Amino acid sequence: MSGRTHARACPERTCVGCRERAAKRDLLRIVLIKGECAPDPRGTLPGRGAYVHPASVCLDLAVRRRAFPRALRVQGPLDLADVRRYIEQSAP
Ligand SMILES: [Zn+2]
Repeated sequence: MSGRTHARACPERTCVGCRERAAKRDLLRIVLIKGECAPDPRGTLPGRGAYVHPASVCLDLAVRRRAFPRALRVQGPLDLADVRRYIEQSAP
């Protein structure tokens, strides 16, 4: 009845692949470690992060858009092998 949203209680991030907003916990955080993208499923690693749905389609979209170098503020291209492996392993 207050008219307030629950935006603060449930933080949202935008997937760099499909550009849809989702709850932070439903997205996979990607961080840069020594020039390579690494998955950060617990969201605890320091530094700038990019968020993507843990799905190959979103990862492919993000790669095609060069979204990771832009989101992480670095010159591309980036090595996404670890992220891809993580997503493929966690997919059903
Ligand atoms: Zn997505």
